[in-house]
Amino acid sequence: MSDSSNSFIPLSVPVIQGNEWAYVKECLDTGWVSSAGKFVDRFEQETSQFTGAKYAVACATGTAALHVALRIAGVTTGDEVIVPTVTFIASINSVRYVDAHPVFMDCDEHYNLDTEKTRDFIHQETVFKNGHTYNRQTNRRITAVMPVHVFGNAVWLDELLPLCRERNIKVIEDAAESIGTKYTTGQFKGRHTGTVGDIGCLSFNGNKIITTGGGGMILTDHREYADRAKYLTTQAKDDEVRFVHNDVGYNYRLTNVQAAIGVAQLEQLPGYLDLKRKNYSAYRGGIDAIPGLHLAEGPDYAANNHWMYALQIDSAQYGLDREQLMAKMGRNNIQTRPLWQLNHRQRPYANCQHYQIDRANHLLDVTLNLPCSVGLTPPQIQRVIEVLRQKP
Ligand SMILES: *Cc1c(COP(=O)(O)O)cnc(C)c1O
Repeated sequence: MSDSSNSFIPLSVPVIQGNEWAYVKECLDTGWVSSAGKFVDRFEQETSQFTGAKYAVACATGTAALHVALRIAGVTTGDEVIVPTVTFIASINSVRYVDAHPVFMDCDEHYNLDTEKTRDFIHQETVFKNGHTYNRQTNRRITAVMPVHVFGNAVWLDELLPLCRERNIKVIEDAAESIGTKYTTGQFKGRHTGTVGDIGCLSFNGNKIITTGGGGMILTDHREYADRAKYLTTQAKDDEVRFVHNDVGYNYRLTNVQAAIGVAQLEQLPGYLDLKRKNYSAYRGGIDAIPGLHLAEGPDYAANNHWMYALQIDSAQYGLDREQLMAKMGRNNIQTRPLWQLNHRQRPYANCQHYQIDRANHLLDVTLNLPCSVGLTPPQIQRVIEVLRQKP
């Protein structure tokens, strides 16, 4: 059965069908609408329970979480941070916010930071002296690496993490897209993405699997990092009565109303993850039968949250390239999106160092993301598959 209505199918929109209304009403009824309140505490506790991180600190956005994470990790003016070129630009901008320089890496077959090339880079292009790692080319100190779990695909950290420990490089995971993804093998078996490195960051933006409208979370197992995250996100207040501030903080708090939505969304997350898996299988069955099309697979070492469904096009065989297919989907009222422009080519970062970028160029050319909302219906999925199957 296919959806014959031809109504618009968006790329990714929230589903609000649980206790959101009830919890928000409670905030409004009691007047607890701002940045303190029981839902902020509950949201932090329940996110910590769900992910297994010892501490969770709520933030205004995922971008704010990344910014604060880098500050807590001690990344500062003139330092360098190793980042993937394939990610949403917020990951990279957060590096610039702390006045540091990104060094761009290629991606692997799962759109993630190529950890082998990153290892080669560290071995061949850096020196370790006085307890720090320095880039031979720039002489700058490399203080962090930021693996991004792109589309919910877990980055393989089994070799990179110990190397970073040896080299005094902090690992800040951008887990904005990967809530619910867990390692199933290796030394981090059973652990959620975002809880393996020194600090992890989640996003609850409207396009993610669960949302607070806008919001983020800092995850860590280190008490001092969690305390500092709370401090920096709440204006670095050292004396609440006399307004003494011994550091430059931010107004990066999540409001109680947003957290109320978050608590309700988190209650539904296990069910959402089931739906994402089912929808992935439904897409997969239809798409892989179409010559020239393939639905990207998640890595076999993790249970994927299947946030985004990445279609890969062999345009010679399929007959349309990415741009032509995106236009065709648009004519059929189906929203699709290519990969982000590679970040080492974005104007603010065009002069930054990049290392052996190769696969990212190819994946950019052949990838088109399909509608992935949790609320996608089986008839809508069939309609997407039928439009893909129709001859141009
Ligand atoms: C969404 C996203 C962010 C930013 O999160 P916001 O909550 O929108 O600020 C950062 N990194 C990645 C990979 C994302 O997908």
